[in-house]
Amino acid sequence: LTLPGLLGGQAARRPDHPAAVFRAQNIRWSYAQFAAETDRLAGGLHRIGLRKGDRVGIWSPNRAEWLLTQFATARIGAILVCINPAYRLSELEYALNDVGCSALVTARSFRSSDYTGMLASLAPELATATPGDLRAARLPQLRAVIAIGDGAAPPGMLSFDEVCAQGDDVTAPDLDVITAGLDPQDPINIQFTSGTTGSPKGACLTHHNIVNNAHFVTRALELTEADRLCIPVPFYHCFGMVMGTLGCVTKGATIVVPGEGFDATDTLSAVSDEGCTALFGVPTMFVAELALPDFTSYDLSTLRTGIMAGAPCPVEVMRRVQSRMNMTGVTIAYGMTETSPVSFQSNVDDPLEQRVSSVGRIHPHVEVRIVDDTGATVPVGTQGELLTRGYSVMQGYWGAPEKTAECIDAQGWMHTGDLATLDENGYCAITGRVKDMILRGGENIYPREIEEFLYTHPDIAQAQVFGIPDQHYGEIVCAWLVLRDNATLSSDAVRTWCRENIAHYKVPAHIRFKGSLPMTVTGKPQKFIMRDQMVAELA
Ligand code: ATP
Ligand code: MG
Repeated sequence: LTLPGLLGGQAARRPDHPAAVFRAQNIRWSYAQFAAETDRLAGGLHRIGLRKGDRVGIWSPNRAEWLLTQFATARIGAILVCINPAYRLSELEYALNDVGCSALVTARSFRSSDYTGMLASLAPELATATPGDLRAARLPQLRAVIAIGDGAAPPGMLSFDEVCAQGDDVTAPDLDVITAGLDPQDPINIQFTSGTTGSPKGACLTHHNIVNNAHFVTRALELTEADRLCIPVPFYHCFGMVMGTLGCVTKGATIVVPGEGFDATDTLSAVSDEGCTALFGVPTMFVAELALPDFTSYDLSTLRTGIMAGAPCPVEVMRRVQSRMNMTGVTIAYGMTETSPVSFQSNVDDPLEQRVSSVGRIHPHVEVRIVDDTGATVPVGTQGELLTRGYSVMQGYWGAPEKTAECIDAQGWMHTGDLATLDENGYCAITGRVKDMILRGGENIYPREIEEFLYTHPDIAQAQVFGIPDQHYGEIVCAWLVLRDNATLSSDAVRTWCRENIAHYKVPAHIRFKGSLPMTVTGKPQKFIMRDQMVAELA
């Protein structure tokens, strides 16, 4: 099944059923309206010259136009390139050029960022360009910039509404001819990884990859057309666009979008007012919702299930979500951009203890192995690298076959780079990243274990542990610490405290105190930057 085939089927089966609610824009679409709006944009994109295989970037917060662009690009076989709304000029330039986008759909602004202004500074040629025929030195492949929002488009750009209007005389049968030429194995989407271990990589995914993953993710939630799923997570990420929007469409459920960006009050208001039955979030979002001073004034009685994912999920937060938010069937998921994304997920009826202490069990039609560094499968309960194989593995990194070959082997196994253990019932626990493991004088050292110990110190707010090369030991342990306000602590004091409590080879040889840590735009600490800086400093 292709993605447009999926939406077309739902519009035919349940035309009047509510498909999407965008509360900030006051938009409510039935499935028939959603499909019709998608076709208008698809026709317009075709009219301005976009064809199968062309890359179309989207740089926008969670708006109705985002959802239309997701389904309209698929309708004409173009490849949607998801660009993080938090990206700034250099990241935007890298993403657009890395995959050769010929069009970009952009919001005009979001929060304090002026998107069209940033584009004008990246491509000053816009000032005099014919809309749809940009020739810019720094964005050599980009031809069309499509600006979302009311009023005339900024210089050199097309207006989103006008592009839709151009599609009015392209009929559904015209589009059906194009859609009939699509294959489920065609690429549909390029999503960038978070850039936790280096530069973000553009993972190329097919219709087959993401339509199936969306189906299995929502099946684990027992989602049906009666469900209304609240999506405060960003659309640009697979959590929002595959597990969220696409997941709803696979079941004919209703997409409820509380606002353009995350806000705890907007989210709980949406759940209350719209009678949502399911809610997604990263752990910090749930923490913010639970901490609202007027938390008890929201009616959460309709909530039943949801997903907490994207980062390790604290046990205590899971418990409170379950008991205070009425989400008895909340689940945890583990995945990566390269695998569409989800490979492990708990089920709504798994015992709570299993749901809080693991990332659940392997998804249907995905195989799993945990291997040691010789590639041999390890016994149950033993830590090793997690490998997955199946329909969900990406086609490859866009334009980088050698990078793809480093992680997908000849037998099709995806080497996730994550360390994990499986118990005798198949529940998986993620224990760290292979790249972060430190090999010091023959001892394997797991940074997460040392970090968890460092966090027990009352003066330490944040701790990151990593290895750097050493002539004598092979590698040695280093730590970057952020102290709590007004705390004073010397590295000798930390080392003395460590020596009293943990094995000598785990005690950091070098400790640095920092005001903040290098993070990805998705909020994950980047150890490769700490490592490089430490090596340079000690050279
Ligand atoms: P890059 O590949 O660019 O270095 P990244 O791996 O962080 O960045 P993503 O694809 O966004 O990019 O994230 C996938 C990773 O996130 C997984 O490989 C895993 O390390 C981590 N992760 C995802 N879900 C969970 C979870 N439930 N618990 C713990 N870690 C998780
Ligand atoms: Mg990764």
